[in-house]
Amino acid sequence: MTVPAAVTITPVCVADLLADGERMPVYVHVIDHPEARVLVDTGLTRLHPAVADLDPRLRPLNEQNFDLAGIDIVVNTHLHFDHCGGNHLFAGRPIYVQRRELDDARNEHDYTIREWVDAPGVKYLPVDGERELLPGLRLVPAPGHTPGTQIVVVETGARPVVVGGDVAVWSGELDDPRTEGQLLVRALEPELVWLAHQHDPWRPRSG
Ligand SMILES: [Zn+2]
Repeated sequence: MTVPAAVTITPVCVADLLADGERMPVYVHVIDHPEARVLVDTGLTRLHPAVADLDPRLRPLNEQNFDLAGIDIVVNTHLHFDHCGGNHLFAGRPIYVQRRELDDARNEHDYTIREWVDAPGVKYLPVDGERELLPGLRLVPAPGHTPGTQIVVVETGARPVVVGGDVAVWSGELDDPRTEGQLLVRALEPELVWLAHQHDPWRPRSG
């Protein structure tokens, strides 16, 4: 089964980071839905001393062939710096995030780069729990990586497709789910799961 032509999901690599001695990609995902074009997470667009040890190499959305104006809706899976650093590019457009995540990003120490979260003009639409954003496209809380993490679930007519952000940082985490969010993703029996830091989507092992 594949996603019907009506909805397509496109990964866009916007950076890589050094993690445990290896380069780890940073992807954002564009969901082309018949009613709107949705961007899930925004990567980062500049360097910051707080994350210099991760040696970011940047390919920001505003410096590649990417139609910024074509995005109608932004979703943040969570507000770690490598997921919200491009939010400023979408000032004035709706940015959906779980209220818990927004509260933590604004209040918890060492959580993210706060000036990237509340960059000038950035307006959030805080969500409490599950929410249907568009027909067949919903936000679902998936705690684990952070307490306020959410995922995007896209119904395809067959098994759903998930855009999961960091619900799993490595694909192997979904083979052996442990967090509430990972268990929830597996319970959805998805066809595949796009992750922010993996080149290829996770798929269940056929068995
Ligand atoms: Zn994260």
